[in-house]
Amino acid sequence: MANDANAALLARDAAHLIHPLHSRAVHSHGRVWVRGEGPFLFDANGDRYLDGLSGLWNVTAGHGRHELVAAATRQMSELAFASGYAGSSNPRAIELAERLSAITYPRINRFYFTSGGGEASDSNFKMARYYWKLKGKPEKTKVISRQWAYHGVTLAAMSATGLSNYWPMFEPRVPGFVHIPSPYPYRYEAPAGTPQGIAAADELERAILREGADTVAMFIAEPVQGAGGVIVPQPDYFARVREICDQYEVLLVADEVITGFGRTGKLFALEHWGVEPDMIQFAKGITSGYFPLGGIGISDDLAATMDAADSAWMHAYTYSAHPVGCAVALATLDIVHDEDFPGQARVKGARFLDHLREALSDHPHVGDVRGLGLMCAVEIVEDKSTKEEFAPAEKVGPRILAAALERGLFSRVRGDVFCLAPPITTPEDQLDRIVEALRDAVVAVLG
Ligand code: PMP
Repeated sequence: MANDANAALLARDAAHLIHPLHSRAVHSHGRVWVRGEGPFLFDANGDRYLDGLSGLWNVTAGHGRHELVAAATRQMSELAFASGYAGSSNPRAIELAERLSAITYPRINRFYFTSGGGEASDSNFKMARYYWKLKGKPEKTKVISRQWAYHGVTLAAMSATGLSNYWPMFEPRVPGFVHIPSPYPYRYEAPAGTPQGIAAADELERAILREGADTVAMFIAEPVQGAGGVIVPQPDYFARVREICDQYEVLLVADEVITGFGRTGKLFALEHWGVEPDMIQFAKGITSGYFPLGGIGISDDLAATMDAADSAWMHAYTYSAHPVGCAVALATLDIVHDEDFPGQARVKGARFLDHLREALSDHPHVGDVRGLGLMCAVEIVEDKSTKEEFAPAEKVGPRILAAALERGLFSRVRGDVFCLAPPITTPEDQLDRIVEALRDAVVAVLG
């Protein structure tokens, strides 16, 4: 590492910090971030990097947005915190719930706030169980999710997460969590004669029948799988999923933690396929990462059932409906609206994906280049004709990531899948720079 400021901070960091996905090996060549500006991050050495993943898919409005700082400052001065437990509320939480009711799917009109996405997953698991108990079907408790899903890492959310490398050191997983294959257009093999999207959706029906419909509470799915490698489903997948959920009385939960608030080119991503969920969850982009806030939204049917209950919903976080989080979310939603994030993501994303394909598709080790809106991925394979992956020990993905860093591009990989989701406000010329840096990194590692 060229300069010592970063290395010196890293040495102090190693003495006392435990990081998410803690790994001394990975961390030894890390960056200590000190500043952000628009699409850029700056490390302790003063080196500038394009933030290819908007932080962790969340900083959709880019860094250094003074409106968001002002919203937080104003709210902190006025009322930094007060309980949001039943019997208490605050105006920003009320305004945010009203605003979400107006912009989310038509039947989603009631909201509960959390500090992030994993807590939102847990809240939905518990909401679904509560709902089915109130409906007189207390055996409906199981959760079906998909391979490559990411829903967070609380013990329950980890059990729904379908990235199996998150499990072994913490098992046993919570019982009653079941996984089905992902629709993964590049890899899912449908039986002859059945369209891929329908076959992949029918995996859900098979799992429901295997488990017993009277034991299944919900199916949870990211409309576009994010951390699992930006997997965009077939256009007919979710309509068939909706049919199956209706047929077997299984709640359809859209995990829009990454896809919500414009990222895919629609405000919420199931809009692409004209499908409405029964429950949603969100986080990340709702505050553009400027304050930790997430939450769930439930349908009118669930809300009415809850309203009719005698029992309290004994679920709570100290920071539910945090006034500052809600104020920052309201200011972020102004930006999402005023700057037309869905439109920007649609137009810039289409051009970005075209450029990625032009620059990379011909490379002998680039198996797939895919995306929707401003979330894309490049999947590297050893053998393009068989789609065979490189041996994990070759660490091709991490090596490409390191080569990209050397070229001023920061992002994340899932195995050998390079994920990209820059801030929606990233100017076109900087999106072009991302394409160049990634192409050069791939060539540097793989020739
Ligand atoms: N759901 C999805 C779709 C996510 O992408 C994430 C975070 N990457 C989560 C849930 C978990 O959110 P958090 O890290 O805020 O708990």
